[in-house]
Amino acid sequence: MDILVLGCGVSGLTSGIALQRAGHRVTIWAKALPPDTTSNVAAAVWYPYKAYPIERVTAWGAAAYRAFRDLARVAGVTMAEALDVRDTPSDDDPWWAGAVDGFRHARPGELPLGYVDGYVFAAPVMDMSIYLDYLMREFSSGGGTITQRAVARLDDVPAVYPLVVNCTGLGARELCGDTDLHPSRGQVARVRDNGFRRVLLDDVGPNKVAYIVPRIHDIVLGGVDEEGNESATVDPRQTADILRRCANLAPAFAGLTPGDVVSVACGLRPLRSSVRLEAEHLGAGRVVIHNYGHGGAGVTLSWGCAQEVVEIVSSL
Ligand SMILES: Cc1cc2nc3c(=O)[nH]c(=O)nc-3n(C[C@H](O)[C@H](O)[C@H](O)COP(=O)(O)OP(=O)(O)OC[C@H]3O[C@@H](n4cnc5c(N)ncnc54)[C@H](O)[C@@H]3O)c2cc1C
Repeated sequence: MDILVLGCGVSGLTSGIALQRAGHRVTIWAKALPPDTTSNVAAAVWYPYKAYPIERVTAWGAAAYRAFRDLARVAGVTMAEALDVRDTPSDDDPWWAGAVDGFRHARPGELPLGYVDGYVFAAPVMDMSIYLDYLMREFSSGGGTITQRAVARLDDVPAVYPLVVNCTGLGARELCGDTDLHPSRGQVARVRDNGFRRVLLDDVGPNKVAYIVPRIHDIVLGGVDEEGNESATVDPRQTADILRRCANLAPAFAGLTPGDVVSVACGLRPLRSSVRLEAEHLGAGRVVIHNYGHGGAGVTLSWGCAQEVVEIVSSL
């Protein structure tokens, strides 16, 4: 089939590639292309943050995890040991534990001051500048074309594309009038590699939300999570606060000043009460498959959602 994918972030590119691999001819149109997408701002570590419902997220995340494991050491993807720290003890494993390799609870000696528990697991880390370039090359070598072009209404798509895959992230608010979709503003600072190799995360404890994500050439420090804030402008006070909270997580980052920061980026996570992954019949034989609203986990879920897009197309 001839399929039009709207959006050239991680959701659009992985959906496009998965559809090509299933034998379809795919074209991408997007208002903005990498490096100017939200996907470029992602840290990006495998972690199912603020994406729902957890049953579907676990299945998508597990499928994507396997894909990332296969991509490790090519395409800007590496596997790192991650430590997700907690300030309250629990004998229970997190709901996503079955999706990852090497899961265990942390030993007391591994925990930063102020934390009593932690989850250790093998985490895929995607250096998004390298990884999105890889996905674009992969899509092009599969015969696809990518055009910078915005669509104001789904009805505006020419009839030569009876099947559209909507991967417009937060843009789906306007495109579909989706009032459930809203932004969560994030900010990250990129610092020079100092040899620190472990991914460290705190999304519930005293430094939340804080993360340290070593990539191939640098280290990403975060973060910020401001639901409802629409501003994509960098806030220097938040950069200083990110450095302070990351230093609380790991002494290797104590003493960093804003002068040590190579770059700062800001982005709006597409938050929704549940990821929208479903077909909608528009009439006159036209179908749109929505694949948006992945919150803080669009990279984490990408290949799993892309596979489901292919399954929906096959079922039509
Ligand atoms: C600071 C920060 C850190 C993050 N860290 C992580 C992480 O560690 N791990 C993780 O999994 N996720 C992370 N995320 C979340 C992740 O970035 C998003 O979930 C993901 O990028 C969403 O991808 P997407 O392709 O759906 O949307 P986007 O990347 O926003 O792409 C949407 C595409 O649609 C296009 N578009 C929009 N409207 C239209 C229109 N009307 N017509 C045509 N094209 C249109 C856009 O131009 C763009 O090309 C983070 C996000 C932020 C902000």
